[in-house]
Amino acid sequence: MGKLLIRGGYVVDPSQNFEGIADILVEDGKISKIERNIPPTGEEIIDACSMVVAPAFVDPHAHLRDPGFTHKEDIESGSRAAVFGGFTAVVSMPNTNPETDNPALIEYQRLKAERVGLIRLYPAGAITRGREGKELTEFGTLKGAGAIALTDDGTTPTDEALLRTAFEWAADLDLLIEDHAELPSLSAGHINEGKISDLLGIAGRNRSAEAIAVARDGYLAQITGAKVHVQHITAKETVELLKLFKEKGVRITGEVNPNHLLLTEEDVLKYGSLVKVNPPLRTEGDRKALIEALAEGVIDCIGTDHAPHAPWEKDKPLDQAPPGMLGFQVALPALVRLYNEGYITLKRLVEVLSTSPAKILGLYPELGTLKVGTPADIVIFDLKHEWIFTEDINPSKSTNSPFLNQKLVGKVFYTIKGGEVVYRYRG
Ligand SMILES: [Zn+2]
Repeated sequence: MGKLLIRGGYVVDPSQNFEGIADILVEDGKISKIERNIPPTGEEIIDACSMVVAPAFVDPHAHLRDPGFTHKEDIESGSRAAVFGGFTAVVSMPNTNPETDNPALIEYQRLKAERVGLIRLYPAGAITRGREGKELTEFGTLKGAGAIALTDDGTTPTDEALLRTAFEWAADLDLLIEDHAELPSLSAGHINEGKISDLLGIAGRNRSAEAIAVARDGYLAQITGAKVHVQHITAKETVELLKLFKEKGVRITGEVNPNHLLLTEEDVLKYGSLVKVNPPLRTEGDRKALIEALAEGVIDCIGTDHAPHAPWEKDKPLDQAPPGMLGFQVALPALVRLYNEGYITLKRLVEVLSTSPAKILGLYPELGTLKVGTPADIVIFDLKHEWIFTEDINPSKSTNSPFLNQKLVGKVFYTIKGGEVVYRYRG
């Protein structure tokens, strides 16, 4: 493997509390030097002047739809969408068809991603067989096959005793539980229960569905010692609970999705089913609370909840369309917007997309860092670059994003995995 010299970029590495202009030399797939003015010796050179150079992004929550729903996305197109967004490490959700509740599918996903060669794919297995909430899967076997975490994402087990056992097993195996914390009984509707659901006369999903599930998860984590990661936090009550459990020393972390940082329930009036997502877009007050929690560290990181669907599936009324939006492509622009509006620092932007999720997933200190000797997974992005998210450059098989054909600010120019350039923007 050749050498690579990244010159003149503004290097941001939260893991070393480092920010400043420096060159990075990559040799044999690893970072071998970070200092100013490294003299070139004939290696490939990337000019990163006026760009940010950071540890590549890590996503704890994405739907690659493979196997079973490959008309929406597959591991190859999903890998291309991930590196387009600066991600080299991705956790895939188990709501495939068949469900990823057995070691053979974990292995299939891992090996297919390896063959595609663009990202490090870490499949999550299901907590219960068929994600039906009735019978626990074989946690040890799933872990042995390469599952990095367990989740029934899309739903959550509703039998508390079963979930307690799941947490106990997960604690014994040191396996992370990720939870779609939203009780189905209180969230039978289609958008946030409130002003807009009243206006449209459509059933809503109550915010208490999320708060009660997080309270349940927090106390079960406390009594079992399990590590629990709350997926897609949407409501300010959830933020309050997360803070409470963290103060008690419970091993709980939380993520927010780009779409919940940018959009509110009001956007349902403009975009309809395109912005239907579970848990739903909530109010401007919730959006502000999520931003504040992300800035302060109550919410630990970003998860993209990348959820592709075909146009003919999304182009249905609110009560029939499936939930979800694309996530990889808009994650950096979402965070750049918060940075430009003064809510987060550049260091925090990199931390929530890279170092923090790498730590939650147990991938740090291999990933989420630019320390000398670690794999050269690096993202190079321009904070100021304006671009249009067109179908032509979209690597996903699906286009379900309200940001399609819109101008976005902040663009990934290079994604490097293990010293190899796996994405290069030619805009
Ligand atoms: Zn979910």
